[in-house]
Amino acid sequence: MKKNLRKAEQLKRRFLTTCGWCGQTIPEDVEVFGSGAKVRSDFDLSPHEGQIIEIALTRSPKLLLAAVATRDSEAKKQGNDLVFMTCSDQCGKDLKMAMEQEVEIGNQFGYPQ
Ligand SMILES: [Zn+2]
Repeated sequence: MKKNLRKAEQLKRRFLTTCGWCGQTIPEDVEVFGSGAKVRSDFDLSPHEGQIIEIALTRSPKLLLAAVATRDSEAKKQGNDLVFMTCSDQCGKDLKMAMEQEVEIGNQFGYPQ
């Protein structure tokens, strides 16, 4: 249990300080771009609400870090299930595109967990 807690802390720190797409460190004085993505409705994220999760991509060897939007969050109101932090607008777009492709794959083979 203690180990899990520490991992959650580490994920949170990584989520806040590195780009969710290219993995570059985001300096503190640099503007962070937030972006959101939707997941399939049958992929239940509610046990992870408010947590940082790792998402493995099947098309590239990337491990994305995403925050699971809570029920009453602003992101959720905008129709997003996941929130990403990226270092640039371009990274946000690339990430979103990759997620959309993953979801397509997910529809056929099941969403990677
Ligand atoms: Zn980036």
